[in-house]
Amino acid sequence: MNERKLIFAANWKMNHGAAEAQAFAEKFLALTSPADGRSLWFFPPAVSIAALTAAMKGRPDVTVGAQNVHWEPKGAYTGGISIPMVMEAGARLTLVGHSERRHLFGETDEQVGRKTRAALAAGITPLVCVGETLSERDGGRTEQVIVRQIGAVLGVLDAQAWHKVVLAYEPVWAIGTGKNATPDDAAQIHELIRMQLGRRGVSFHVPVLYGGSVNAGNVASLLTRPQLDGVLVGGASLDPAGWSDVIVRGSQAKVRPSGGWDVSSELGAGSQEDLP
Ligand code: PEP
Repeated sequence: MNERKLIFAANWKMNHGAAEAQAFAEKFLALTSPADGRSLWFFPPAVSIAALTAAMKGRPDVTVGAQNVHWEPKGAYTGGISIPMVMEAGARLTLVGHSERRHLFGETDEQVGRKTRAALAAGITPLVCVGETLSERDGGRTEQVIVRQIGAVLGVLDAQAWHKVVLAYEPVWAIGTGKNATPDDAAQIHELIRMQLGRRGVSFHVPVLYGGSVNAGNVASLLTRPQLDGVLVGGASLDPAGWSDVIVRGSQAKVRPSGGWDVSSELGAGSQEDLP
């Protein structure tokens, strides 16, 4: 079995059009070399997937993904983007259920389940996000919310399908606020997630990333917790030098368990090197 890889995932949200994405890649590639044991994932806006894919070609450690997809392959869904379309542009991953999709655009647990299932059927890796809001946290409902959100995906997938799923715990109150969960709090929720998967028959290690105001100053302390398989980062991933710094500091901090899961070989996520 291969070593489990540490994942650094950049969610650019509605930033960096195609020209900016290309300029980012040029600077970033000059600053960051491939390293054993880590994968670099980028989620640019859909219109920048092709440009970023082309710019990252030849880097086996880099994989590009979509921020959102529709579960149907085509049809009358104005403004929607399908999985085959993002794959044609070069995406090998997709975010599903990011809190901004859930809370600003009304995405439901049921839709998250459908998108996850459709991504797996099409052969791209879903990075499914879960997390509680501040009022849910203050009301002592964190566990209940996480169990419900994970349950919606468990309900539509066979246990074996989880081999190709990656999760992110992203407390909504921590996203873009400058307030990150403590390493212990994040580790505790990651354990809760794994326990929930285990109870429902998922017997292998599903990678769980942490997201929410991760930056160069806190990434090392978060990644010392073995429960964290990586980070999903918004604001601190927008600048090539800043993101490179997060990756370097995070890579130095992580004590990875040996054995287990290798994201690039087992997920079939592919990397930019595999693309034509
Ligand atoms: C995110 O967008 O998934 C995120 C975690 O954002 P930020 O790092 O800015 O909190």
